[in-house]
Amino acid sequence: FVWPMLALGYLFTLLERGAASYDRIGKILESRPEIVDAPDALRTRPRGRLVFSSVTYRYPGAEAPTLEDVSFALEEGEILAVLGPSGAGRSTLLRLVLREIEPVSGEVTWGGIPLRRYALAALRASVGYVPPEPVVFRGTIAENLSLGKKDATREELERAARLVDLHEEILRLPAGYDTRVGPDGVRLSGGQAARLALARALLVDPPLYLFDDPLASVDVLTELRIWGRLLPALRGKTVLLVTHRLLVLPRVDRILILRRGRVAAFGTHAELLATYEPYRRLFRAEERLVDVLQEGERAASRG
Ligand code: ATP
Repeated sequence: FVWPMLALGYLFTLLERGAASYDRIGKILESRPEIVDAPDALRTRPRGRLVFSSVTYRYPGAEAPTLEDVSFALEEGEILAVLGPSGAGRSTLLRLVLREIEPVSGEVTWGGIPLRRYALAALRASVGYVPPEPVVFRGTIAENLSLGKKDATREELERAARLVDLHEEILRLPAGYDTRVGPDGVRLSGGQAARLALARALLVDPPLYLFDDPLASVDVLTELRIWGRLLPALRGKTVLLVTHRLLVLPRVDRILILRRGRVAAFGTHAELLATYEPYRRLFRAEERLVDVLQEGERAASRG
């Protein structure tokens, strides 16, 4: 009774990727028919350490691998930021954890057990995935927020909305949490939709979160404020956060930098500052940028 519902929750996260997603789900099923449960698949929910061991992945038909020999370990409850230039393979890394795709060689294990040993429903019910392009469904704000947790109370919805800086904006809508949004309702801005999708995932409360740069459409200072509030609230969860906001990084436990599909650096913020010159330069440059933006905000508020 419970498994189909959980699998459905995962389908929602897939559908959030946009209108083409029905096609895409079809393509995933067609192109990788082997991604099905083994007869003895584990129905227990995974817990524990997440480990990539020499993982290589090549998209079907592609000349070069997108990820090559990627190894790292993340303890349960740690937050890992995944950085890299566009096309470096960050989204592909998250898709491997969701088991939308499987390594060509190497292995991903969770709690010491290869991902392919888990029933897909058990695996995906343990993962809160927030894609880069959020989708708002036809319905009210409250319905949109509680997609993954139908029985969420109004207090729970408000707490999640507050964490992503959305509560006050919702209250300003014509009918607050009962305002209809989507094609025939109020049109939310890109940044509001992004924060709505994030709050929706927070309500599901799984042990592992995969955030694929969900706040890229929000301005820098707002994004830094939201992660600054959210990451401490997610303590105890394992988190993989794809981001390009470097000032978030002092708050995470480990940082993985990908370059052309390979691990260019892995370590804590302090370690990378001390040992990896490109990181130090980029981080200092963003510090200066944020200083300028903050000064601009202060000047504007002084009028
Ligand atoms: P971005 O933020 O730009 O998406 P990324 O680091 O998340 O960057 P990926 O989306 O993981 O990068 O893509 C890495 C590489 O794999 C890119 O060169 C991309 O063109 C290729 N790629 C991604 N998806 C597919 C696919 N379905 N089929 C073939 N190649 C793909």
